[in-house]
Amino acid sequence: MTKRIIAGSIAEEEAPYELSLRPRVLAEYIGQQSVKDNLDVAIQASLKRGEPLDHILLYGPPGLGKTTLASVIANEMSAHFRSTAGPLIQLKGDLTAILTNLEFGDVLFIDEIHRLQPNIEEILYPAMEDFKLDIGATTRAGLITAPLRSRFGMVHRLDFYSVPELEYIIRRSAEILTAPITGEGCHEIAKRCRGTPRVANRLLKRIRDFADVKGTGEITAPVARDALKLLDIDEQGFDDMDRKLLRAVIERFGGGPVGLNTIAAVLSEEIDAVEDIYEPYLLQIGFLQRTPRGRVATKFAYEHLGIPYRPPQAGLF
Ligand code: ADP
Repeated sequence: MTKRIIAGSIAEEEAPYELSLRPRVLAEYIGQQSVKDNLDVAIQASLKRGEPLDHILLYGPPGLGKTTLASVIANEMSAHFRSTAGPLIQLKGDLTAILTNLEFGDVLFIDEIHRLQPNIEEILYPAMEDFKLDIGATTRAGLITAPLRSRFGMVHRLDFYSVPELEYIIRRSAEILTAPITGEGCHEIAKRCRGTPRVANRLLKRIRDFADVKGTGEITAPVARDALKLLDIDEQGFDDMDRKLLRAVIERFGGGPVGLNTIAAVLSEEIDAVEDIYEPYLLQIGFLQRTPRGRVATKFAYEHLGIPYRPPQAGLF
């Protein structure tokens, strides 16, 4: 898969600055209000009773704040935060070593928990009955086995963020990075980061570079627009891949319905990548629709690409 500037997943070199931008307490964690409200009550209750929290499963597309939220929960519980990921645990011994090092009340975060091998997953079950808090995160809730899922007392889905929420996140990050930014500059980035804080922060950094080199250093709306143009990101926050996907559905398949496998084949991508990475945002903003017979491009997609709209034939879905 090609490296995308608007990918929700983290690039290796981003880890150090992400850490500095990561909110530490629930009050700094923007958005996801109902998830936060629920967690807040659960945390207060557990602190009051001196009992550990129920295990928590967080799911949603990459970059929406699952890891951040897990570390915020640990902070709120004044607990140690340990983190690992499904693909990092190759042998039973790997997980056993992690589990034996946990202390009462510790938080264990397992990213990509759907990628734990079944025989390793079984080691986790008895451990989940001890008094330690396990927080699992996944982009694919559907791939979690029933026995594992049933062990999580709380299951929360993270949603894409609204423009005002993203503006808030961008302003906060700009302050931490000491990057001067105007309200309109903030708004411009917030509109084009696919509802994803990680993308917002990444764009902010790239635009700050651009502002330093080509301008006075201040991130204004025109500076942001020019920088995004250079990055080939359009008004909707789409890159070439998004446009290719929509164009394929419209021009090669008459707007759909077209199956996921076919879309993946046309783009020379894995089906999982299309389902997890490319289409969730297009579905969210209503450019694509999911139907029993496949994906359909909506009027918005036609308009965005400047192609005259032709509704799908009646009776097709
Ligand atoms: P995920 O685990 O879902 O892939 P992360 O928790 O690593 O996502 O979040 C990516 C980055 O986005 C974090 O480093 C953080 O700076 C930022 N971020 C995520 N959620 C929020 C939020 N609710 N408020 C502020 N910043 C956030």
